[in-house]
Amino acid sequence: MKTILEIQKLDRQIRLLNREVNTCQASKDYNNYLKLLKDGREMFEKLETQANEIINNYDVSANRLGKYVGSADVVKKRNQEKISLENISSLITDSNALVGELSEENRHVEDLVRKSEEIVRKSAELSQKLTEAKKRSAIYKAKIEEKKQEIAPKIAELEKQIKALEANVEDKAKYEKYKEMKENGIFPVFVQLEGDFCGGCKVELPLNFIEKLKVQHMLPCEHCNRIIMSR
Ligand SMILES: [Zn+2]
Repeated sequence: MKTILEIQKLDRQIRLLNREVNTCQASKDYNNYLKLLKDGREMFEKLETQANEIINNYDVSANRLGKYVGSADVVKKRNQEKISLENISSLITDSNALVGELSEENRHVEDLVRKSEEIVRKSAELSQKLTEAKKRSAIYKAKIEEKKQEIAPKIAELEKQIKALEANVEDKAKYEKYKEMKENGIFPVFVQLEGDFCGGCKVELPLNFIEKLKVQHMLPCEHCNRIIMSR
């Protein structure tokens, strides 16, 4: 058991070194970049949906405008053929109605154009932002790689020490269990009983658990699965 605990100590040092890399500024910056990339992609999708909506609305407007081509012809025809005092007032009403509808449609189209321009502007802005972020991400990546190179020999040395200790492990089954739990992200695997609390997750343990632990000396925590040792 002593050997396994020594190995756990070395493993802890390896984890601390890796954490140093994972929490360095360059790693944080890189993670922010990945988030920006994800947000950017979502934004592009949103803009594309909006653009499609505008195209659809524009088609509807174009169809409506097409209808007026005929109306204008009717007014023109009436104008040429049988202009008289009787029909002049209805002619004027028709013309006015047509002008009113056309100017409303025109406003509608202008609104669509304005919205399209905004989407184009936003897309360009986003595109530029992402391009700049991508350039910076290469710098972050290089810095992270540099850090990794820095700790690599230290980790290699610790792994060598672990290898040497593994030969002395008596309880192979327990060591296998240790490795399995470590792989599953449970670390440290072996923790001390701290008063009435689990030394891993700090949860207060029931009295009967502690009684049982005093007899068996080693029991898995019911909350975090770590192996609690009573001595
Ligand atoms: Zn626990």
